[in-house]
Amino acid sequence: MSTAHNGGGAAAAPLVRFERVNKWFGQQHVLRDVDFTVQPGERVVLCGPSGSGKSTLLRCVNRLEPFQEGRLTVDGVVFDAGRREDERALQALRRRVGMVFQQFNLFPHLTVLENLALGSEMAGEPRAQVRERALAQLQRVRVAEQAHKYPLQLSGGQQQRVAIARALVQAPRLLLFDEPTSALDPEMVQEVLDVMRALADQGQAMLCVTHEMGFARAVADRVVFMDEGQIVETAPAREFFEAPRRARTRAFLQRVL
Ligand code: ADP
Ligand code: MG
Repeated sequence: MSTAHNGGGAAAAPLVRFERVNKWFGQQHVLRDVDFTVQPGERVVLCGPSGSGKSTLLRCVNRLEPFQEGRLTVDGVVFDAGRREDERALQALRRRVGMVFQQFNLFPHLTVLENLALGSEMAGEPRAQVRERALAQLQRVRVAEQAHKYPLQLSGGQQQRVAIARALVQAPRLLLFDEPTSALDPEMVQEVLDVMRALADQGQAMLCVTHEMGFARAVADRVVFMDEGQIVETAPAREFFEAPRRARTRAFLQRVL
């Protein structure tokens, strides 16, 4: 693995680049020749049927999953299949790439503020400074008044906004969302989508797996459709919804719209 970073010329280099990435779980081929990029500041929605490999693709980006063939570059760090990885480089990568999960994944025995502060305090940052940064992010997602409560005292929508704030504490170059509203009661979906949209408007790069096609249409620069481990189609959002080129994309859209 190389840890060369982009210097001044970063504008032209993609934030994420998959090059012919293949991955298997045992005998099952779950990512097939994936070629894919996310540009700095870009908002990309990834959609596709259940089991098509969306979560696996996302988890490859922050190296929660290894892959067996191909090359992945994330914010200038190159990962080649089969190479041994340096733990410190992985940790640095995960600070630059934040992830938000369907099930929030907050620690129930820690307060909201402690959930946000945990990573930075373990990295040795002074407590007062961490607290200040955490509160600023809680304000950004409009849950600052809940800072001293425990996650289970909050609604699902509030918990997910806390999880987003936690991902933002490290000022990530890229945010990954894996079906962030799928576990929420319907009346809480919009408050989370609104927060995500505000982040998008502020220029936050994001790669978002979601079935919320209204959000995709309104917020995404590009929509990517995956089926059976392959990227079937990728297009600007408007084109994707109004003139999908592939039959498989059209069939999918008919089911979800
Ligand atoms: P999606 O997010 O699009 O629903 P996933 O990426 O979760 O799809 O899964 C893709 C395929 O890989 C599915 O067939 C799933 O059953 C399989 N899979 C996912 N995670 C694992 C795992 N940890 N071990 C074995 N198979 C897995
Ligand atoms: Mg999934």
